[in-house]
Amino acid sequence: MTSGIDTEVQHTLETLVEFVNALADADTADDDVDVDTRALLEQHGFGRAAAAPEAAIRRTTARVRDLTPRVMSLPDSNVSAATDWINAELTELRVAPALSAHDGSELHIHWTPPSATFDDQVLADVLMSLAQELCDHGTERFGRCAATDCEHLFYDATRNGSRRFCSDPRCASRTHTADHRKRRKRRAAS
Ligand SMILES: [Zn+2]
Ligand SMILES: [Zn+2]
Repeated sequence: MTSGIDTEVQHTLETLVEFVNALADADTADDDVDVDTRALLEQHGFGRAAAAPEAAIRRTTARVRDLTPRVMSLPDSNVSAATDWINAELTELRVAPALSAHDGSELHIHWTPPSATFDDQVLADVLMSLAQELCDHGTERFGRCAATDCEHLFYDATRNGSRRFCSDPRCASRTHTADHRKRRKRRAAS
């Protein structure tokens, strides 16, 4: 049931969401530990992450960090504001699209040539996915975690738009526990 570009866009956006959540966490934490960009992107199937030079990894972190406030505010932004933002970002983007079916994957689009720096590749993937998403679904698939004290973003790929929590499993479980407790209290009081 997976079909080309939609899956690719969804996967890239889910990776972006994990990335900006981790950056936001790192920026509010007390220690100086930053996000392990290489590991995060490797885990999400960015094949070039493993061998990317340290400087390119640092630039990737910095460039995605610059996008983070706007990405985090997508659940509250309308399509026209998000479009203006993406269009401004796209004017800076160096793309040279080509079709590829490497390593047994389905045919998909690479927005940058193999000679592009790793950070240019990641930024192109991210921005083109956001551009495609705005065309297909506007901003409605982006939401904020419903758990108390969690500001994380999520990308809702469910058919009926029913997602409520970020990918941290604790958020869903502690909220269900709290709901349950509230219900019991209400029942005891009546
Ligand atoms: Zn590829
Ligand atoms: Zn959460």
